[in-house]
Amino acid sequence: MLFAVSTLAILPNPTAIEALKLAQEEGMELSELRETVEEIEMVDGHCHNIVEFDSNSITGGFVQAFTVGAFADADAIAFAQTSLSFKKGLRDVAELYGTEVSLQGVEEYRRVSGLQSITSTCLKAAKFSAILIDDGIEMDKRNEIEWHKNFIPFAGRILRTERVAEQILEQGLSNGSSWTIDSFTEAYVSNITLTVAKEIYALKSIVAYYGGLEINLNVTKTEAEESLRQVLINATKPLYILHHRNLVDYLFLQSLEIALSYDLPMQIHTGFGDRLLDLRKSNPLHFRSVLEDKRYSKCRFVYLDFGLAIPKLSMHGMISAVKDLLTLAPINKVMFSTDAYTFPETFYLGAKNSREVVFSVLRDACIDGELLISEAVEAAKDILARNAIRFYKISSSNITVP
Ligand SMILES: [Zn+2]
Repeated sequence: MLFAVSTLAILPNPTAIEALKLAQEEGMELSELRETVEEIEMVDGHCHNIVEFDSNSITGGFVQAFTVGAFADADAIAFAQTSLSFKKGLRDVAELYGTEVSLQGVEEYRRVSGLQSITSTCLKAAKFSAILIDDGIEMDKRNEIEWHKNFIPFAGRILRTERVAEQILEQGLSNGSSWTIDSFTEAYVSNITLTVAKEIYALKSIVAYYGGLEINLNVTKTEAEESLRQVLINATKPLYILHHRNLVDYLFLQSLEIALSYDLPMQIHTGFGDRLLDLRKSNPLHFRSVLEDKRYSKCRFVYLDFGLAIPKLSMHGMISAVKDLLTLAPINKVMFSTDAYTFPETFYLGAKNSREVVFSVLRDACIDGELLISEAVEAAKDILARNAIRFYKISSSNITVP
């Protein structure tokens, strides 16, 4: 019985073979799909700033590129070295740099080459036409968005709304502002509105980190005001509104109103992240009440990108994650992103693994008779570039649409 099951799993069924034959008769080969996936200039709709080598946000050297999040403790850094994603990632980076496959070899190459040189190597090999940076992670010696344009044709900004709120409150600490919920909300809304006017491509919320995705849609001004008062009691810099749930929810709903009035996408982090995040509460199923609320039905947030899952999971995990997305989601709502941060290599690994995984998933869809190869080629272009270009409205003056 067991043997029969494994045999079935290994051999493609006759319909699959017929489908592949059909595709080949159509005059197209899988090599065309491979070529498209390997050559396309991708659009990374979600990533973060690269920082200098001596930034104090890098505590564990290059291995930290294989942990989750910009800050990692010693345990996470030690254990990361025994993960499948580290083993493969180290080989991929060593091959790119032409060094021996060892942590020492790669670290020595980075030190001798310097940040400019390795960034150039990684981003050239990643082959992006555009990246959109959420610069809301505070990191010491971080390079600003402009700096990234030295290596990529186009870099745009994503505005992290919780950080805007915290910066306003931090400034208030310096100049002795005494906020009411009304004066603070006004400052918050006008700050975001002014930033929108300077060209951003989306708003972003990390409400999943700040208590989870179950938003109280009926939070009152009085509740938010009390929450604000709690934040300001003994507040120091850097200031976080984390866990002050009524204020977080209140501001989140304000942000949705702004996203709606400017027709901006709202990025919402879901799923796993660094240790601040409670996975039980970051399941997007908790977000249902917002999705069903008529006030926000025109909000542009029901798309998916697979950043962080790629490249942080094993190869099996990455392929199964993207297959799961396509189980139900329309192809033109699924997007590549890296969620890369701090290390240029995270951009390279995100790009390289995404190409491998998208090829594998679409090839299987051809073998299973779901897509013709010609359709898989179009799907690859959509997932790796065109969906993001459309969704974030990246102008054709900045980018060539594949
Ligand atoms: Zn991110």
